[in-house]
Amino acid sequence: MGIFERLKQGLARSRAAISEGLTRVLSVGRRLDDETAEGVEEVLITADISPRLVVDVLEEVKHRYKRREISDPAEVIGIVRDRLKQMMPSRECDAVAAPEGGGPTVVLVIGVNGTGKTTSCAKLAKLHSDAGRKVVLAAADTFRAAAADQLELWAGRIGVDIVRHGEGGDPGAVVFDAADAALARGADYLIIDTAGRLHNKEHLLRELEKIRRVAAKKIPGAPHEVLLVLDATTGQNAVSQAKVFTEGLGVTGLVLAKLDGTAKGGVVISIWSEVRVPVKYVGVGEGAGDLERFSPEEFVDALFE
Ligand code: GDP
Ligand code: MG
Repeated sequence: MGIFERLKQGLARSRAAISEGLTRVLSVGRRLDDETAEGVEEVLITADISPRLVVDVLEEVKHRYKRREISDPAEVIGIVRDRLKQMMPSRECDAVAAPEGGGPTVVLVIGVNGTGKTTSCAKLAKLHSDAGRKVVLAAADTFRAAAADQLELWAGRIGVDIVRHGEGGDPGAVVFDAADAALARGADYLIIDTAGRLHNKEHLLRELEKIRRVAAKKIPGAPHEVLLVLDATTGQNAVSQAKVFTEGLGVTGLVLAKLDGTAKGGVVISIWSEVRVPVKYVGVGEGAGDLERFSPEEFVDALFE
């Protein structure tokens, strides 16, 4: 299956809600009256596209209708589709370049507990490993023993190296050893999984800061990428986490996990328009292969085709 087909499959629930919803309210013979406009509004709001954006889309539709640029309600779908794409202005969302002077690219993966961090680390490891790059995983979530076990299981399946310590260990020490291992083995990528739940937010921030410091001491410029993982099924909660966590943590990209589990895929568009950090990957399943690089254009097309 091609990448676009896989993305489409992962977005099946959202596509059904948005695309089929719009087709229903805009079925042939309908006039483009207030009732129809309300129907369009409801479909978009239900898909978690933020009200501000929905108002904007509807204004455009009404404006074009008044100027008689549209005659058939079905044409509205094309306008909505174009407008949604414009709402995600182009933004650099490529993978980070390899550090100058060689050495591993260090990717720090952060986010609230249960959002999909560990799974995303594994998926990212597979993505790079499949492309022929050498990966080392660091199990720096030492808060729960199960976290390192889970990552180790993935590492075994994918066939990449992992550095872990016992439960309750110091995450900084894990990163210290993992950086050594990555350097010694000539790894291209060091991917660091972290804890999402600690005693409190201050504690979590301090720990992430420490991990950053340790990584930077070992590998110049590290972490080169800080990915914040968000759970797409949590809707507006994901939007607020995106706002809160992109402040001060040096987040360079977002991962929207669990898009396959929701019909509210419009949340990606809301997040893109609310924070300045690009969405770099979307998770569309529980398997190691279920991570796709994000492109706004492709995403909207996958919702409509
Ligand atoms: P963490 O606590 O942030 O490390 O979250 P985990 O990686 O352990 O994931 C929590 C749960 O979400 C697990 O059951 C994963 O299988 C599941 N999960 C993660 N990403 C995805 C995804 O893209 N799609 C689906 N359907 N489930 C996911
Ligand atoms: Mg985890």
